[in-house]
Amino acid sequence: MQTHSFDVVIVGAGGAGMRAALESSAEASTAVISKLYPTRSHTGAAQGGMCAALANVEDDNWEWHTFDTVKGGDYLVDQDAAEVMAKEAIEAVVDLEHMGLPFNRTPDGRIDQRRFGGHTRNHGEAAVRRACYAADRTGHMILQTLYQNCVKQKVEFFNEFYVLDLLVDHDLSQGHVPEGEDVNVVGVVAYDLATGEIHVFRAKSVILATGGAGKIYKTTSNAHTLTGDGMALALRRGIPLEDMEFFQFHPTGLAGLGILLSEAARGEGAILRNGNGERFMERYAPTIKDLAPRDIVARSMANEVREGRGAGPNKDYVLLDLTHLEPAHIDAKLPDITEFARTYLGVEPYTEPVPVYPTAHYAMGGIPTNIKTEVLRDDEHVIRGLYAAGEVACVSVHGSNRLGTNSLLDINVFGKRAGRFAAAYAKTVGFREVPADAIDATVHELEQMRSRPEGERVADVRRELQETMDRDAQVFRTQESLTDALAKIRDLQGRYRNVSVQDKGKLFNTDLLEAIELGFLLDLAEVVVVGALSRRESRGGHFREDYPQRDDAHYMQHTMVYRRPLADHDADSPLIPADALTPENAFDLIRVFDGYKLVLGSKPVTVTRYEPMERKY
Ligand SMILES: Cc1cc2nc3c(=O)[nH]c(=O)nc-3n(C[C@H](O)[C@H](O)[C@H](O)COP(=O)(O)OP(=O)(O)OC[C@H]3O[C@@H](n4cnc5c(N)ncnc54)[C@H](O)[C@@H]3O)c2cc1C
Repeated sequence: MQTHSFDVVIVGAGGAGMRAALESSAEASTAVISKLYPTRSHTGAAQGGMCAALANVEDDNWEWHTFDTVKGGDYLVDQDAAEVMAKEAIEAVVDLEHMGLPFNRTPDGRIDQRRFGGHTRNHGEAAVRRACYAADRTGHMILQTLYQNCVKQKVEFFNEFYVLDLLVDHDLSQGHVPEGEDVNVVGVVAYDLATGEIHVFRAKSVILATGGAGKIYKTTSNAHTLTGDGMALALRRGIPLEDMEFFQFHPTGLAGLGILLSEAARGEGAILRNGNGERFMERYAPTIKDLAPRDIVARSMANEVREGRGAGPNKDYVLLDLTHLEPAHIDAKLPDITEFARTYLGVEPYTEPVPVYPTAHYAMGGIPTNIKTEVLRDDEHVIRGLYAAGEVACVSVHGSNRLGTNSLLDINVFGKRAGRFAAAYAKTVGFREVPADAIDATVHELEQMRSRPEGERVADVRRELQETMDRDAQVFRTQESLTDALAKIRDLQGRYRNVSVQDKGKLFNTDLLEAIELGFLLDLAEVVVVGALSRRESRGGHFREDYPQRDDAHYMQHTMVYRRPLADHDADSPLIPADALTPENAFDLIRVFDGYKLVLGSKPVTVTRYEPMERKY
C-alpha cells in the first residue's frame, strides 16, 4: 500500500474536476484522481452548448435565465443556487474564452449564441439565443481547454486510478454522530489499474466530481464508464442521496441505440414529426413547440408512439427532420451529430428525417450540497472538508428537470466554487489520522470477487438490470412497474453477491473493476426506484401515470435517501407493502432489505422569488 498526502484531492477529471483543480492548485497542493485518462471523460462528449445570458445576439439577462431554470425544473429547484449559477455564468464563459476556448463567433467577432429548449426571453415570451457553442463539439473544446490549462499549471494527475472508498472520521453509515460533534473528511482509497495496488490519499479537503450514472439504463447517451461511483460510495458511507428519482430522458437519441443527437439540432431549426408527418409538438407546447424542455418533449414523443402515430415498420420511434435546413448550415453547425446519423443508422440527414427516441441522459439527483458545494450529511449539517460538484452532485439547480446547456454551465460554476472553497478550507486545518482499517473493506471486496472460482457473470446481471430499468422506470412509471423493478433489483442484488470475474490477475484487470461498478449501479438503481415509488405525483422527469398531477401540498420537498444498517426491531417491519404508501408517510418511509435498510427523508426547497405556478409552454 502506498500513501500520499495532498491539501486537496479531487476525484474525477471531467469538466467539474478540472475546473476545480485550476482554482485549488493555485492555492494548495492538489491531486486529481481519475479512472479515465482526463480527456476521455464524458464532458468531452457534450455537443450543443453552455448557456449564459451574455446578450451577445439578443436581449437577455441572468434573471430571465434564473426563472427559466426554476420553471424548467418544475419548481423543485433551490432558487438561491439557480441565482448563483445564472449570475456567475457570464464570468464562467469569459474564463473559458480567456483560457483559449475557440467558441463560434458572430460576424462582428463576439461569442455566438444559439437557441436551446426552455431558455426564453422575458419569462416565456419566446425562445432566446443563450447557448454559447463550438459547433456541436462544445464539451470536447471545454475538456481540452481545461486539461491544457491544468497541464500548464502543473496539476498532478493520477490517471487510471479508481477511487473505491471515501474515508471520514465518524462511521456515518451507522447513522449516529454524537451531539455537537463534526464529521470530517480524511481522504480516499484508490486502486491503480496498471498494477492492482491500493493507494491511500490523505487530504484536508476532498472534492467528488465523478459524473453521472446513466448506465443504470440500457438505452442511454452516457458512456460505458458512467456508473455513478461517487454517488454509490457516498451512499455506502451513510451520506444521503437527493432526488434520485428524477432522471432525464433526452428526446433525441438515435432510435434503438440511444446515441445522442444534440438538442442543438432543434435549436438550429430541426423539427420533430410523427409517422403521419405531423409536427406534433404544436399540440403539446403551442408557444415554443420543439424547443419545450426535455421532459415535455420526451413524454410527448413516447405518447405519439403509444397512441399509434410512431414512424417506421414497428411505429416505435418519431422523426427528427432537418431536410429543410441548408446543407452548408448543417455542415457548419451540426457536423458531428449528422455524421452519427449516417454512420450508425445509414440515414442521410440532408434528405431524410432521422429516427429518434428518448434516451436516458442525465441524473438530476446526486450527493446533496449547499451553494458552497459542501456535502450535507442530513438536511442541515455539512461534512467538514467534503465537497461535490458536477453531475455527481445535487446542489439542486436542475430540480426535477434540467434545461439543455445548464450542465456544462453547472460544472464550470460549481467546479470553480468547489476548488476555491476546498482550497481555502484546507488552509485552516491539519491532516486527520487515517484509521488502521482504512483499506480493509476495499481489499476484502476485491479479493472476494477475484477469488470466487465461478459464479454469476457480470455482463448478465448488468444487462438484466438495464433492461429492467428501461422497461419499468423510464419515461412512464406506475406503482406496478416500479414494484416489479424493485423486486427484480433485489433479486439481482442477491445474484451479485455471487458474481465472479474471469480475469484473476493484478495488472490492468478491467474485468474486476467492471464487477465493482456493477455493484454501484445496483445500489443506485434501487435508490432511484425507491424514490420513484414514494413520490406519488408527476413532476419534471418523473412521470407517474397513476398520479399524473403535480402535488405541491405533499411533494414540494427534496427526497433524501439514507442507507442504514438494520436494528433489532427492524425485523418486525419488513418492506412496507405498496398499498401502505401514502403521501403522508412518503418521506418517512423505511424499506428494509437483507442486511440494510433505506430510510427516506425530505429537505425543504429554497424559494426566493418565484412562487410555484402551473408549467405551460
Ligand atoms: C452525449 C452527451 C451530450 C451532452 N451534451 C451537453 C450539452 O451540450 N450541454 C450541457 O450542458 N450538457 C451536456 N451533457 C451533460 C454534460 O456533458 C455532463 O453532465 C457533464 O459534462 C458532467 O461533467 P462532470 O465533470 O460532472 O463528469 P464527467 O465529465 O463525466 O467526468 C467524470 C470523471 O470522474 C472520473 N471518475 C468516475 N468514477 C471514478 C472513480 N471511481 N475513481 C476515479 N475517477 C472516477 C472519470 O474518470 C471522469 O474523469 C451531455 C451529456 C452527454 C452524455
